[in-house]
Amino acid sequence: MIMISRLLVLIALLVLGSGLNQAAAQDSDPYQQLRDQMVTRQLMARGVSDARVLLALGKVPRHRFVPERLAAYAYADHALPIGSGQTISQPYIVAIMSEWAEVKPGDKVLEVGTGSGYQAAVLAELTDKVFTIDIRPELVEQAEKVLRSLSYSQIKAKSGDGYQGWPSEAPFDAILVTAAASRVPPALEAQLKEGGRLVIPLGPAGRAQTLYRYRKTQGKLVEEKTLAVIFVPLVESTGK
Ligand code: SAH
Repeated sequence: MIMISRLLVLIALLVLGSGLNQAAAQDSDPYQQLRDQMVTRQLMARGVSDARVLLALGKVPRHRFVPERLAAYAYADHALPIGSGQTISQPYIVAIMSEWAEVKPGDKVLEVGTGSGYQAAVLAELTDKVFTIDIRPELVEQAEKVLRSLSYSQIKAKSGDGYQGWPSEAPFDAILVTAAASRVPPALEAQLKEGGRLVIPLGPAGRAQTLYRYRKTQGKLVEEKTLAVIFVPLVESTGK
């Protein structure tokens, strides 16, 4: 019974959300229908249920974050190349990572691995304090251009080694790492608030990896959820 009423609320929210979106953007955004289908067929169908996350993915224009020649595939059920040998994650993975991070309005969030800037934009729909860092300056520059053109001025992006986190902005309520590491970077653990969530894929490059959700509980990371995934590798610093 509770499940059914939760589902009804969700459906109402989505209908309302897409209705509003459509009213506002009918002529200006020919991708709205594809985005709505992505939300129902790829996300809700697989159990993503956080209404704020579903509304965020139904709103952010994913086609603006992929190379123009790939715009037609932006809402398809897979990752896409974004240049420099990197990829924008599959919509489902972006949704799961956002849901697992439990971002509330006002939360301070760090993303390691800006890439296209898409995950950062989704996070910016959930809170106004988003920090994102990427080791490849050309990707940060391109992402900043797109984010600026979409008026996501609340996102602070910089190029640098995310393995070290962003010490001057710590601590964070949630940290998302969008590249696979071999272990939890100690700096990220240190920069997480008590009760904070760390969502990170761990495992060998290009092979089976596991996405983990940890919560900092009494100063220690406690593993709470896992999912089998494949990400590009996190470049691990040599300590220089
Ligand atoms: N979240 C992105 C996809 C990220 S792909 C999106 O929404 O499009 C993974 C990214 O991690 C790549 O852009 C890569 O350059 C970056 N990366 C790899 N190692 C890193 C490190 N040590 N610090 C910061 N970024 C890193």
